[in-house]
Amino acid sequence: MATLFPAKHDKQPHCRYCGAKLRKWIEWVEFGPKAEDQPRTKEEANRRTNRKIVHYTWGGPEGDRRIVRVSTWDGERYQGGYFCKIQCAVDFAFLFAEQGRETVTHQKAIAYQRENP
Ligand SMILES: [Zn+2]
Repeated sequence: MATLFPAKHDKQPHCRYCGAKLRKWIEWVEFGPKAEDQPRTKEEANRRTNRKIVHYTWGGPEGDRRIVRVSTWDGERYQGGYFCKIQCAVDFAFLFAEQGRETVTHQKAIAYQRENP
């Protein structure tokens, strides 16, 4: 399945086709599997990841709760880059093609075809 790559933006972008807000590009950090390797506090998890943590997942028995996983975000990348989903990117491409827009590669192919009938 095709994947849309993340892109950096100064503020939360909206999908260029449907206008939906794009989600943050999240990367996960797992701690463990041994309980002693899992942070007991958010501050400890922050020190160990050195990235902006947007979500903490707690585990372990009652009375000995530990952080088993954190979701991190680099503060600038958003999922999909410019589109919320692949279908929006495809619909956007069709819209532009129908308006006569093209890439330089397409222009060169047409020029080559014209010069070499
Ligand atoms: Zn969209």
